[in-house]
Amino acid sequence: MATTPQFLVTEECGRLARWVRLIGYDAAQMPATPVSALYRRAYNEGRVIVTRNRRVGSSGVVRVVQLADQGVAEQLRQVMRDAGLAVDPERLLTRCDQCNVEVQPVEKTQVSACVPPYVFETQQRFRRCPSCRRIYWAGTHCARISEMLKRL
Ligand SMILES: [Zn+2]
Repeated sequence: MATTPQFLVTEECGRLARWVRLIGYDAAQMPATPVSALYRRAYNEGRVIVTRNRRVGSSGVVRVVQLADQGVAEQLRQVMRDAGLAVDPERLLTRCDQCNVEVQPVEKTQVSACVPPYVFETQQRFRRCPSCRRIYWAGTHCARISEMLKRL
């Protein structure tokens, strides 16, 4: 089985990093400089660098995706095409878009105080980020995500 690609997105592409996480892939972030630190981390962690910074050239040891477009939908499409990723419904909302960690299933009874009453009444499955404690459910970002997926 092929390993799932992981990304290292430079800081100026924060919106793109959040979208990569929302569709369920690991996207760490760090500044583009010093470039040597960026390459070292990408190499050590087996990550593909994604950047708009022209100083981050391709390297013999790590893969670099130079984003061609400023629009986040076009950027996401480029990353997915380059990495051979497909949108997998099973992966959507499995990762916190702020912290880049996998969210964990949580009992409905534990979230009653944390979500709006309407959400609590209508949703059955909840997940929580172990880092920032945000609660995710099927409705979270749903309209935004389906809108984005249409554009892909
Ligand atoms: Zn989080």
